Amino acid sequence: MSYVVAVDVGGTEIKSALVDSDFNVIATTTAPTPKADSTGAETVKTIAAIVLEFAKQQSISAVGLVVPGALDEPAGTSRWSGNLQWNNLPIRDLLHAAINIPVAFSHDVRTAAVAEMRNGAAKGARNAIFIPVGTGIAAALIIDGEIRSAEGFAGEIGHIDVNGKYPCVCGKSGCLEAASSTLAISKAYEAQSGKTGTTTEEIYRLVTAGDAVATQVWNDATAAMARACETLITILAPEVIVFGGGLSNAGETFLKPIRDYLDSTLTFQRKPRLEIAHYGAKAGTIGCAMLAFDLVKAAK
Ligand SMILES: [Zn+2]
Repeated sequence: MSYVVAVDVGGTEIKSALVDSDFNVIATTTAPTPKADSTGAETVKTIAAIVLEFAKQQSISAVGLVVPGALDEPAGTSRWSGNLQWNNLPIRDLLHAAINIPVAFSHDVRTAAVAEMRNGAAKGARNAIFIPVGTGIAAALIIDGEIRSAEGFAGEIGHIDVNGKYPCVCGKSGCLEAASSTLAISKAYEAQSGKTGTTTEEIYRLVTAGDAVATQVWNDATAAMARACETLITILAPEVIVFGGGLSNAGETFLKPIRDYLDSTLTFQRKPRLEIAHYGAKAGTIGCAMLAFDLVKAAK
């Protein structure tokens, strides 16, 4: 048995997992993402400490590193990440220099899509869109059986204008991400209810229980997502749209309003199935481990 470490650098947390070659998650750990770490130094230090800790349990063959934003994947560079405040940062090589273990590098969303394509909710679909909804929102576009990213620039659907009212990390306002991300939903609920620190999980439970404020916030967020989906469907004609990330735990509470909107608005377009990610919020970890093992295989 061989082992890899899957590292997912998110806007708020760095989630890491020790994964074996049968894709069993052996151990996990979470650390806060260093704030405003524009040189990447603190982030690399945090990840190196995590890898060192896992290496005490098992010998590590490779590390999978996934990050959000616009990337140059072959170069190992983050071109831009609004949430991490990175610009043209050679994060893969910085990490490799610190740990001296091969590092597979990819986009957080496309990595999760790899898991869903190979063995999950998008398996067998030639055309699919994978949308994890967390602190940020982006999409992996599966077109004619391949994940397409236009050199890492494509898929930043969080910044589609859905005519929303909130300011966005990209500097504009009205973006999907500012209306439908977990962060956006928590903020909107806080603004409308006056209650601070309510998680999206608590909010969708309130929706199920019939709470009026939570329902209003939820309807706004799902309506914005539905409008973005309408645009994507018109352009890309996916057979299935798979939702992952933290918000996908809401299941049908999340899917139904989007499906109802699409049923009422689509005319000539091919109607896609709407599904929750097979791997749920773990798709990123499994996909990341798959890419790290690809690297191990390629080196043999
Ligand atoms: Zn934006």
